[in-house]
Amino acid sequence: MAVILDGKLLAAELREDIKARVAAICAAGRRAPGLAVVLVGGDPASHVYVAAKVKQTEAVGMRSIEHRLPETTREAELLALVARLNADPAVDGILVQLPLPKGMDSSRVIEAIDPAKDVDGFHPINVGRLSTGLPALVPCTPRGCVMLARRAVADLTGLHAVIVGRSNIVGKPVAQLLLAENCTVTIAHSRTRDLPAVCRAGDILVAAVGRPRMLGAEHVRPGAIVIDVGINRVPTADGRSRLVGDVDYDAAAAVAGAITPVPGGVGPMTIACLLDNTVLAYERRGG
Ligand code: NDP
Repeated sequence: MAVILDGKLLAAELREDIKARVAAICAAGRRAPGLAVVLVGGDPASHVYVAAKVKQTEAVGMRSIEHRLPETTREAELLALVARLNADPAVDGILVQLPLPKGMDSSRVIEAIDPAKDVDGFHPINVGRLSTGLPALVPCTPRGCVMLARRAVADLTGLHAVIVGRSNIVGKPVAQLLLAENCTVTIAHSRTRDLPAVCRAGDILVAAVGRPRMLGAEHVRPGAIVIDVGINRVPTADGRSRLVGDVDYDAAAAVAGAITPVPGGVGPMTIACLLDNTVLAYERRGG
């Protein structure tokens, strides 16, 4: 049976480390790092995510700046707020919660964020810096994936990583990070031929598809490290619902060497990495 890669535990360790770094900053008489979170509209999942981000930011001793704007907000108003946050020296990180309401161009909004404060790592400057090997602010979920894989094997050098999914927020940045760890990287997607065979070549298999339990035992090389990014809500027999990943956990765990559960795997790492990115942005901006 596979080793379970416990994201809740690793995220708690990372938050403790961040808390100690923030305490040291404050003990030295410097201001605490500040993270601004902007939420536009009433998407219920986004409200839950933003509340968790605010709570965890404050719990590590950082300053949380929250802006909740109505669904009717015009893009120009949002861009004006981003410009104010860019200019505010007490704001180190800016996160605009996605998705934005219909009619808003999220690319334009992301590009308006100062790359030095882009703690989501979505700005084209940070994307380019990551892919050219320059210091960058790196997307949070992909960072969490690599940290979890390194829990299974400290040095990933030479391992073959197969990533299923090529989105800008997960698949592509995970591929860049694993390349930087000296993995041999394959990116699979909806047009990939013989997906099970491609996946079985992977010493590391990262699933970022958005399809409940799509990858089963036939996709997993015996002993592989399986990182399941998927978060899918599925109905249960009693009329309720529960979260499952993109991997059929029981089937894959019988073959894999190590595997992340859903929930409790990659999910908890995302906010912990966001806090880490904020401290990093603070330090790089000179505190
Ligand atoms: P996207 O929908 O943007 O991308 C999905 C990718 O999967 C695409 O590249 C698509 O290929 C590929 N794909 C779809 N169907 C197949 C198939 N049948 N075979 C092979 N590849 C396929 O999703 P995201 O990257 O945004 O998210 C992926 C998952 O991760 C979701 O479940 C999401 O909820 C979760 N997630 C979790 C986070 C966390 O904090 N844990 C954060 C972000 C996302 P193509 O490009 O060819 O269409």
